[in-house]
Amino acid sequence: CGIVGYIGNKEAGKVLLDGIKRLEYRGYDSSGIACIENGTLRYEKAIGEVVELEHKLNTNPIIANMGIVHTRWATHGAPTVENAHPHMDCRCEIAVVHNGIIENYDYLTSYLEKRGHIFKSQTDTEVLAHLIEENLTNNLEEAVMSAVKMIEGTYGIAVISTKDPGKIVAARKGSPLIIGIGDNEYFITSDVSATLEHTRNVIYLDDLEVAIITPDNYETKTIENITSLKKIEEVLWNM
Ligand code: GLU
Repeated sequence: CGIVGYIGNKEAGKVLLDGIKRLEYRGYDSSGIACIENGTLRYEKAIGEVVELEHKLNTNPIIANMGIVHTRWATHGAPTVENAHPHMDCRCEIAVVHNGIIENYDYLTSYLEKRGHIFKSQTDTEVLAHLIEENLTNNLEEAVMSAVKMIEGTYGIAVISTKDPGKIVAARKGSPLIIGIGDNEYFITSDVSATLEHTRNVIYLDDLEVAIITPDNYETKTIENITSLKKIEEVLWNM
């Protein structure tokens, strides 16, 4: 339902929670966050309101400068902690948040199970984490490109991995995704109102495009790995 990603110099946990709270009006049943903390993937999930997630983070704060957060509106699988996003691969090296519906997840789940993958949730989304794991050698964006080519349905996704740290990879088809360009910081969001307090300069990703975002640069490509040049637009309206 809602996605926010951040990479920059600020405390990612705070920026991400503030951002996702601005998307609460859209409705959701659970939430979750993932960051790379000292080289390892750290995640927290909670059912109910974002404040429940915030309580967990208050007890055990996230110390990171990049991460992704999600509010889920369940389509496949009950609203439980296990089904909340992010979803991870078997080794817990990849975290994915997803808006949309993966139509062929049943087929992909049995394909991946035959290859030894163990699933922890009942969602359609989890196949993405395992597909990326299958394709990840060292370059996260190429693994994401290969994975999304195998899925049917709609997606707006943000992905991080300890195997290719220091970047967030985002991709979309049929579900909105926007990159916010700040001063030495970048945002990813499914709804521009989440990051307007930080920047008004945005790029609207198109279907079948991928964004690769690092602390000091961003790049957009098609899922065929061809660079696409995007116009930076200024959001003029007020919240
Ligand atoms: N289909 C996914 C799920 O049920 C994503 C739902 C959403 O867009 O929040 O987990």
